[in-house]
Amino acid sequence: WDNTDFSWSTELVSKLQSVFKMTELRPMQLQTMNATLSGRDCLLIMPTGGGKSLCFQLPALVSKGITVVVSPLVSLMEDQVMALQHFSIEAVMLNADADKSTVKYVQDAMTDPKATLKLVYVTPEKLAKSKRFMNRLEKMYEKGLFARLVIDEVHCCSQWGHDFRPDYKFLGIMKRQFPGVPLLGLTATATIKVLEDVKTILNIPDCLLLRSSFNRPNLYYQVLPKPSSQEEALNDMHDIINRNFRQQSGIVYCFSQKETAEVAEGLSKRGVRSMCYHASLPSKQRSHVHQLWTSNQIQVVVATVAFGMGIDKPDVRFVIHHSLSKSMENLYQESGRAGRDGSKSHCILYYRFADVARQSNMVFTERTGLDNLYGIVAYCIDVSGCRRSRIARHFGETWDSTDCAGMCDHCDPKIKRLCNKRDVTRLCQDVIKILNNAAATNQRVTAPKVLDAWYNKGAPTLRVKEVKVASVSRDKAERILAHMLLEGYIREDFHFTAYSTICYLLPGSRAKALLAGSAQVAMEFESKASAT
Ligand code: ADP
Repeated sequence: WDNTDFSWSTELVSKLQSVFKMTELRPMQLQTMNATLSGRDCLLIMPTGGGKSLCFQLPALVSKGITVVVSPLVSLMEDQVMALQHFSIEAVMLNADADKSTVKYVQDAMTDPKATLKLVYVTPEKLAKSKRFMNRLEKMYEKGLFARLVIDEVHCCSQWGHDFRPDYKFLGIMKRQFPGVPLLGLTATATIKVLEDVKTILNIPDCLLLRSSFNRPNLYYQVLPKPSSQEEALNDMHDIINRNFRQQSGIVYCFSQKETAEVAEGLSKRGVRSMCYHASLPSKQRSHVHQLWTSNQIQVVVATVAFGMGIDKPDVRFVIHHSLSKSMENLYQESGRAGRDGSKSHCILYYRFADVARQSNMVFTERTGLDNLYGIVAYCIDVSGCRRSRIARHFGETWDSTDCAGMCDHCDPKIKRLCNKRDVTRLCQDVIKILNNAAATNQRVTAPKVLDAWYNKGAPTLRVKEVKVASVSRDKAERILAHMLLEGYIREDFHFTAYSTICYLLPGSRAKALLAGSAQVAMEFESKASAT
């Protein structure tokens, strides 16, 4: 598809330069444009900032008729329409609030072969709920003026994706209704599972998958141990920001709305101008925070994941996760808001074992919640593998860790580590024995209680005589528990109380084999670490 000898190729290049004032296409853009201009249905998977919009905006200019773009967020559409008008391209957004004259103008243009309108942006609700608009689309189709259907954030179709929108399901009828219209779906986050689901829902089994690399060479990935008290965690974070990112923009992602307020206040007190952002703030306050940050009047936005789509500040130098996110996809997406201008930027995640249970409590009701969470836990507790190659593998890319070029804490030559593999079978057996004893005596145990019992502390009834007092540091003991969880030697069990959910530990499906001696567990530990 990277041929430059299609009938549209010359016009494509000349409009790229004359209209968009860009000199050349980025990787995957030409392929996508050629495929969609040839009439193929395509799904384009490209990281945030990669340049997905151009892949339909430029083809819209060389196609006859109108390109319809479905997008989940009005603010995203407004930004795009404004940008297009800046290039003197006629584009309009239709949402529930569109005034009559706009609606009329669009409706007329849709069936007028001489119309200069090239792109119409609509919300999925508009398509699902407006019969009138659907009728117009049919007329437009009959006249051969329905150039292309673009679905932005196409993963929203799938319940497996991270922000499912029920209205996106409706889009499944579009291919049946308009079989001759090429469909182009765009997303930055899609695992194989989500993509398969999207293909089924949209009725495009034979679509072309176009993928550009997820590697962001300018992002430095790092995981840090999170101090156990909030005060220490704040001191640590403040220290990092002050030493490395003075006067530079950043985002801190937190687990809860309450925590965003605490952390924003804590950082401000320490001299880092910060404000919090979450979905329960009035929308006026949210835009205010966004605007202060975009114009560099505050340094840091402390946010929940609600601070997401539509942020395109180019010079974000750091994204810190105050708690682990709920999946690798979330981590990639959230930390990917750093460094859109291509300059070196840092993605730091604070990991603490206690946060795993907090997240588990939140995600266990989602169909793939725990699997996704354990994926990121594996990323966090890994002591030696290249972070970048783990991310690449997650997105189905192969990756040679030598290509990291020292841009993660495990490949960085300035951070010296000594790791060695150790057999921890007996230690894991001891944990199972503690859990079995608890079960046999009808006691429910949370992870901290298991650890206490292992160190011969806490409730005497939980201690097991034949189990030796843990011979490893608390840190290592926690890593062993996390590893056992990921490997199915133990599992989490959730109980509702009036106020919250509690996460207990139980022996897992592989516990018996472990006790019987038919499974061996080896883990890598860091014996020395020094930053130089
Ligand atoms: P995405 O939707 O993939 O997150 P955008 O479409 O918003 O990314 O593009 C990100 C930025 O890259 C925009 O500022 C856009 O103008 C710019 N861009 C896209 N393609 C090119 C190109 N070929 N040359 C230069 N800049 C480009």
